[in-house]
Formats: sequence, structure tokens, C-alpha cells
Amino acid sequence: MSFNVDDRGYYGNFGGAFIPEMLYPNVEELRSNYLNIIAEPSFQDEFHALLTDYVGRPTPLFKAERLSAKYKTNIYLKREDLCHTGAHKINNTIGQILVAKRLGKSKIVAETGAGQHGVATATVCALMGMECIVYMGAIDIERQAPNVARMRMLGAQVVPATSGSKTLKDATNEAMRHWINHPVDTHYIIGSVVGPHPYPDMVARFQAVISEEIRSQLQEKEGRDYPDYVIACVGGGSNAAGAFYHFLDEPRTALIAAEAAGLGVNSGHSAATTFLGKPGVLHGSMSLSMQTEDGQVIEPYSISAGLDYPGIGPMHAHLFASGRATFFGVTDEEALVAAVECSQLEGIIPALETAHALAVFERLQAKPNEIVVVNVSGRGDKDLATYQNRLKLND
Ligand SMILES: *Cc1c(COP(=O)(O)O)cnc(C)c1O
Repeated sequence: MSFNVDDRGYYGNFGGAFIPEMLYPNVEELRSNYLNIIAEPSFQDEFHALLTDYVGRPTPLFKAERLSAKYKTNIYLKREDLCHTGAHKINNTIGQILVAKRLGKSKIVAETGAGQHGVATATVCALMGMECIVYMGAIDIERQAPNVARMRMLGAQVVPATSGSKTLKDATNEAMRHWINHPVDTHYIIGSVVGPHPYPDMVARFQAVISEEIRSQLQEKEGRDYPDYVIACVGGGSNAAGAFYHFLDEPRTALIAAEAAGLGVNSGHSAATTFLGKPGVLHGSMSLSMQTEDGQVIEPYSISAGLDYPGIGPMHAHLFASGRATFFGVTDEEALVAAVECSQLEGIIPALETAHALAVFERLQAKPNEIVVVNVSGRGDKDLATYQNRLKLND
């Protein structure tokens, strides 16, 4: 069985490009060019030079001795939190802006929910001198003021989406509408392994540098180039896709995905898509998403803004449906406990999203001779206010 995308843009029964006719020329231009562009030696040189000198790659693979002792196994942390801007998202925005340049585009449009992808996009636009417009739900603009300030500081224009629930899906609609109206000079940077083909595959390829590095780092440290487990949190699924990519066809590596169960999978306040989702089209591809009987999207809930998404990318829907990956639902409370544990045992304050991945050690029951790699997708600075409130750090 294949876990990579096929020629038609499908992972098993999931994927494809379900888009309005008006968007077809834009997506088709990208689809027919992206593989050739990425394969060009000059693209690879520029991409890897920026990952090295600008992003700070390779990120360390750190043996977490005190966590390892506690769970009686060998736990390594892949430090994407040390990337420029504090998370893995920049790997993708660097790749996409280089594709945009080669397609002759001068402007970038994006949408953002929590603002993390907006910041990563505004960053590379500043770097490349490209105009940047970021659509963001009006409610999210209020909730995520620090990231809005960052985007504006970087020179981006942040446009409020005022329709519907004034959150991520409305911002997505407006960004797509903007792209339809500016097809010639604008590229649309999607921030996760979601959206119509070729986005999921393109984003996965850019994030795949994570597992490429894990392989060579493990070879050096452990004398073998695969772990027994790779764990990552899944919002749309880009950091997980990157951490899994080079192990998809390695049967000795178990792939573990942590989803946000919010107040509990069955509480009505959750974002655990594989537990609650049904097949359907969301954001331009066939995947699993949380929806009502008549196909309306259900508002997700998670303490973590980056996991607060009602779907998952088609690669992950296929990994779930085929049984290749194991999905765990992790509640807000479990994530908070894991965040404290990592902070106080290793001196690393993780992002709330990452804390979901750090919460599954107990359930994993890895053996003393096994190797577990957790992808630390981002750093926790942005979540300090939440940690402070929920953990009563003032007392
Ligand atoms: C955005 C984000 C995520 C979730 O996005 P994926 O596409 O699922 O990786 C996870 N962790 C951090 C730190 C993020 O900023």
C-alpha cells in the first residue's frame, strides 16, 4: 500500500481538488509546475541555504534523559521549537515563497487562525520583498493580538474576515476569493497539509526535512536510522507529515498522532477529527472532518489554537483509515500536565500544540531498548498567558 500521493492527487480515498471553477486555472498552474520547480538544483540550493542560514537547520535531536528515565525508554525531542519564528511552519513558507518566485508571482495571500501561519508567511514575504495580505477572522484578530502585531511589524496587511463565525473558515473563504480575483500576480500560501491537490503533497515535501534530519541524526547517535515510534500532534497535520514522511514505508516505525480532544472526545467541545469526523470535502479536498448530519462544519474546540481545526489533511485521513498511524485523543488537562512535565524535567517549555504529543508516553508503553522521537513542533512562549491562567502560576 502506498502512503504517498498518487498522480491524481489522492491518498487512498482521500485528497483530490474540489474547487470552484474560477479557481481552477490558479491551482492547475501550481499543479503542473510544482514538481519540476522543486526538482531544480537551483531551487534545492536556495531552499537548503535558507533552511540552514535563516531558519537555523538542522534543528537538534535531543536525548531527553529525565523523561526517558521516567518512562523507562529512550525519548528524543526533535527541536522544531528552535526554528526561526519558533515553530516548524517556516519550513513550508520558505518553500512556497520560492515556488511563487519561480512562477513569476510578486504578491502573497494567506489565511491564518491563531496567527502562527500568518507570522511565518509575513516573515518570508519581508525576506523576499513581496507584498503580503493575510486574512484573519475578526474574532481571531481580537483573540490573537500579539501575532497580529507581529504580522504588522513585518509589513503585512492583516484583513479582518467579517462573514459567518468570523474565524478561520471565513478567513479561508476570503483568501480564496482574493486569489480568484488576482490569479496572475498572486500565490496563495496554505499553512498545513490541507487544501486542494497539490497543496498537501507540496507542504509535506517541504516539511519532510524534519524526518530526513531525524534519520541521519539517529544513525549518528544510535547506529540505526529509524525510531520505533515517531509522535507528533495533528492540527491540519503538517508537522506530523514532516516527522512521518521518511518513515511512511518503514514498517519498523510506528507512527503516532495526537489530536486535541478538548474537554473530552464526547464532550461536544473537541477537535478530535478521526474520532468524530466523517468523510467529506473541507477546504478543497476529500478528507475527514467534523460535520453535522447535513454536512455543515462543526466548530471545533481545543485549548490550543493550532489544533483547533475541524478537519485533518488527506494524508492523515488515509493513515488513519488504513491503520498505518495510531491516533490518540488528548484532552486540555492532559496536555497541560505534559507541558509542565517537559518544562520541569527538561527545561523546555513546549507549545500547547506540542504538549498534546508529549502526553502520550504513558499510553505508549515503549520498552527500555526502544527509541521514541517526539516532534517538538513549537515553543511555548506564545502560550504563557494560558499556562499562567490554567496552572495558577501567580500563586
Ligand atoms: C500550527 C501549529 C501546529 C498545528 O499545525 P500542523 O499543520 O498540524 O502541524 C502544531 N504546533 C505548532 C507549534 C503550531 O504552530
